[in-house]
Amino acid sequence: MNAAEVLAVARAASLCLAVDGAELVLEACGPPPPAVLDLVRAHKAEIIAAISAANAMLPPSPASQKIDDAVVDWRDWYEERAAIRQFDGGYSREEAGRLAKGEAEDRWHRAHGERTPRNLCAGCRRPIGSAEPLDLIDGNRIHLVDLDCLIRHENRWRPVAAQALKLMGIETLLIETRRHPDPRSSEFERELGREIADGVLA
Ligand SMILES: [Zn+2]
Repeated sequence: MNAAEVLAVARAASLCLAVDGAELVLEACGPPPPAVLDLVRAHKAEIIAAISAANAMLPPSPASQKIDDAVVDWRDWYEERAAIRQFDGGYSREEAGRLAKGEAEDRWHRAHGERTPRNLCAGCRRPIGSAEPLDLIDGNRIHLVDLDCLIRHENRWRPVAAQALKLMGIETLLIETRRHPDPRSSEFERELGREIADGVLA
């Protein structure tokens, strides 16, 4: 396994890795799986080399040292989904951004969200018991008979996912899309800016 593959495994386990001087710094949203930590330890030197090499490619500002590829990936993914909704789906930019954010919350929750034990309902947190369970796509189970369990489950996980996305700046992008409701006008502004910069317009 090479450094890039170990990094991918670490990110999938919600581990953020950064280099501070000659040290590898770990940041985790929750307790990381011991197997992943062992993997990171075993490849520590290669990971430091890989992250340092990636950082060296970035502009030399102190803030850029903190850029995490996983965050950039999420923002790119969100922007792409919003663009698809807007340009292929015919939604307004604001609506496309809102739908893409909901989609990003689903994706984040499936990748990193809480999993309740199989014998418990993720909604009411009581044992599934002899009641018929509904297996959800996120890996959780709820009581099938009670719609309230489904609602309680979603009301619990969605704000957590929204908060995670907010920390990655995805809420900021949504606000930015709201500021430019018409893509043609922002394109026009960019064009105008170029012309002013080129000295075409005084
Ligand atoms: Zn329940």
